[in-house]
Amino acid sequence: MGISIVKSSSLPPTFYLKLTYISYNLFKKVAFIVLIDNHQRVINYLRISVTQRCNFRCLYCMSEKPFSWVPQENLLSFEELFVFIKMAIDSGVDKIRLTGGEPLLRDSVDKLVSMIYSYAPQVDLCMTTNAYLLKHLAKRLRDAGLKRVNISLDSLDQETMKQIAKKDVLSQVLDGIDEAIRVGLKIKINTVILQGINEHEVLDLFEYAKSREIEIRYIEYMQNSFAKDALVGLSSPKILDVLSKKYHFDDDGYSANSPSHYYRLDDGYRFGMIEPHRDDFCTSCNRLRLTAEGDLIPCLYFDESMSIKKHVKSGDIKSAAKVLQDVIGNRALKNRWSDDESSNRAFYETGG
Ligand code: SAM
Ligand code: SF4
Repeated sequence: MGISIVKSSSLPPTFYLKLTYISYNLFKKVAFIVLIDNHQRVINYLRISVTQRCNFRCLYCMSEKPFSWVPQENLLSFEELFVFIKMAIDSGVDKIRLTGGEPLLRDSVDKLVSMIYSYAPQVDLCMTTNAYLLKHLAKRLRDAGLKRVNISLDSLDQETMKQIAKKDVLSQVLDGIDEAIRVGLKIKINTVILQGINEHEVLDLFEYAKSREIEIRYIEYMQNSFAKDALVGLSSPKILDVLSKKYHFDDDGYSANSPSHYYRLDDGYRFGMIEPHRDDFCTSCNRLRLTAEGDLIPCLYFDESMSIKKHVKSGDIKSAAKVLQDVIGNRALKNRWSDDESSNRAFYETGG
């Protein structure tokens, strides 16, 4: 059994909220199944934070002060997560990202990769990681079925990286990137540029990525209550301005399934800007987030969530599907970062 929504422009918007429980296997033979939210956006992308824990303390993500982690026993097991994941795939999700906290800190995370890959090899299965442990795990993850990794890299300078992550991590991260390339994982680099901290490295990071034919995406800093006070991000126009002093590029627009606004150099190299402050950033949002404890989150910005925990623990797929239906039916149209507001959501909990 699964939930399904048939997309049809001839149906009134309220129809999309009336999800019907039907026999998935029967239906799947005759219809293209998609999930559509209350603003008629297709939802096909699930980001799963497998742990809140992290081996870094990035200035923009995690408070310096120690805080209590979710106890291990409160986390959903891989088997419990998988109950939900299978139902979500059957309902139209075709892209899954494992994230965190730092996903490589979750014991045997390759096992979850393998479970998803075996069930649905067609799913675009990827991970976001700080790469600190990637040197040792890249091959195992690739063998389990992982296709792509997005790696956070904010500096190429040892001291600056130490200032951002609050740990001396640069050489391990670079080794992790090299190993991921060596084993054939597809890579993108995510970079957050902060004024007065790593803003002098916009070009160096760009050239590091370009020389390895890796796509780099600059993510605009999003204010949140867990970040260090008084951080100011460098906006997308200012980053583009720096790059334009050396390179000529054209606007390459947006591509499906990605929040990036792309640009292309004359030699074909493509890079992206993730601009959550743009007014139209949310118009094509296709994603939901699931925390390690089983909270399903409709939007990265807002506090709202609904738990699937008791349903997946008891194997009650129908009730888990009802939570999916309710969350998809109640998504905000827009985040509020464009008003320069701060979010109370922790990125290390939601997975960013
Ligand atoms: N630990 C992994 C990592 O850092 O790649 C995965 C989790 S991290 C929360 C996911 C992404 O969120 C990273 O690319 C990180 O740079 C980004 N991120 C975290 N806090 C952010 C903030 N305040 N503004 C913009 N991006 C942020
Ligand atoms: Fe950890 Fe990633 Fe957050 Fe940095 S951005 S503290 S690596 S979860």
